Formats: sequence, C-alpha cells, structure tokens
Amino acid sequence: MSRVPSPVSSPALSPVLSPPLSPLLSPLAPGVYTGAVDGADPSFSPSLVAIGRDGVLVVDPGPNLRHGRRLIAAIRRRTALPVRWVVNSHPHPRQVLANAAFAELRPRPAFLASPATAERMRSRCDACLRQLVAELGSAAMAGTTIVLPRPALREGAPLDAGGVRWQVRVLANAHSASDTALYAPALRLLFAGGLAMGERVPDLRDGSLTGWQAALRALSVLPADTVVGDGVGTPRQCIVPTLAYLDSLERGIRQGLAAGVDAANALRAVPGEAFRHWQGFVPRHALNVQRAWLELEDEWMRGAPAR
Ligand SMILES: [Zn+2]
Repeated sequence: MSRVPSPVSSPALSPVLSPPLSPLLSPLAPGVYTGAVDGADPSFSPSLVAIGRDGVLVVDPGPNLRHGRRLIAAIRRRTALPVRWVVNSHPHPRQVLANAAFAELRPRPAFLASPATAERMRSRCDACLRQLVAELGSAAMAGTTIVLPRPALREGAPLDAGGVRWQVRVLANAHSASDTALYAPALRLLFAGGLAMGERVPDLRDGSLTGWQAALRALSVLPADTVVGDGVGTPRQCIVPTLAYLDSLERGIRQGLAAGVDAANALRAVPGEAFRHWQGFVPRHALNVQRAWLELEDEWMRGAPAR
C-alpha cells in the first residue's frame, strides 16, 4: 500500500512555513494516473485521473481550490484534452471541495455523483466547508466554493468516459451514506475511494459496520489487479485488511453482546490487539467500537438472527 509521503500535517503550521507543494501524477495504466499532492495532509486520499480519447475523467479531485488547480496543472502537463467528467465518489469534504477548481475550466466539466451523494453534498457542504476551514486554516481553503454534482450516477449504469467504460457501483451506508466505486474491466482497475483503507484503521463515524462489510464483499469479487482507495495497491493490500478489521470488530462485538457485556465495557471486550500497530488505531478504534456496538446492539435487541 503506497501512500503519499506526508511530512506536513499540522493545520497549526503557518502557511508561510509550509514547503511548496508539487502535484504528482503516478501512472497506473496507459493514460490512467493517481493524483496527489506531495507534502499534503496524510488524510488526503488520491484522486483518479483517466485520460481518454476525447477527454479526461477525474474522480475525487481533493479538498480545496488550491489543490484542484495544482491537479489541473499536472493534468495539463500530460494532455491538452479537456477535463470532461468530475466524479464525487462520496460526500466527504476532503474529496469534493476541489470541485471549485474544475468549475473554472471552459468548457466546464460535468460534475457527477450518485443521487444520495449529491443530496448529502447539497445539505451538508456548507457545514463541511466550515469544518475544513477550521481544520486546515483559511489560507489553505482560500477561494474554495461549493460546486454541487448532478445526481447522475446509478448502480449498474455504466459511465463511458473518453473510450473507457466504467461499471458504476453505488454502495449505500458503507464508509459514508453513499459510496460510488468505479470498475474498469478492460483495465482490471477498481476505484474504491474511502472504502478501501489498507492497513489504516477505518473511520466508522459517518458509516455503517455491516454496510461497509457488504460493500467490500461486493467489490472483492471484481477481478481487479489494482485498487485505488485510501492508497494504491492490489486488492489484497487495499481491500482485504479493511475487511479483516471490520469482520474482527463484528465478531468481537457479537461475542461481547452474547456474553452480556454492556456498552460501557465495549472496548475491553473488543481491544483490537491485532490492529494496534495500524495508523490511526488511537483514537479511532475506540470510537469505532462505540459506534459499531450501538449499531449491532440495536439489531441484537430487535432479536435479529446473527448473520
Ligand atoms: Zn471519506
């Protein structure tokens, strides 16, 4: 699982002291790249850039106007073709707010998302923008405005982008309220966005344990060689560890519930020892246990049979 080196992550650091950021496009397949910004916050996951016959597809352009403009400059060094499609895979600010940079382009690209992601962005982007300004600082977010996508991506309806056909998978209540994965059979390439975290503790705050497990099981059967998620790697590197963590969380909580443990002692029942060395274990694992405990306890109380 390769991640972008990230020496600078503190929002408290003065922008004056920040090193210059350079946009990186790393090749994955002919015409297909991951885009990231060297030196950026480690929680910025890579974008996907696919240069087709007559236009460029960009998935998850990033957190702000500045980042988006750098990504566009990096694309320009590879091709003069217009960016025609910008896909927002899910409604999290670090992935979508760089839409602002792409909205400056002429011709203006089509901004596309699932109906649930588009709706979430419509209702939450104001608050998300304020939150990201608080986290990254107003200098980093300068000029960043909200650009909403069209609710045009639907499960099973392919996206044809410049000669590459992408299968669209819309996965509800997984990493977020709605996660869109894109799979190109001809490239054996899967863009899984926030669903595939590799050896990094997933964040269940805005998601669902059982929904996320189901989403990863659905994606696991796709014959992909390369997965772009929170990093880039093989399915074994990107998807398998995340699913192992979530399955272990489920197993531990179900055993705890069966043994009569209450929510106050949840973390003792599910210490997550096997994942202690993963990035983000503290504090995220404890928060995940609380979140997932409530989800499964609710099901347990309703007497649903164990899956
Ligand atoms: Zn996310």
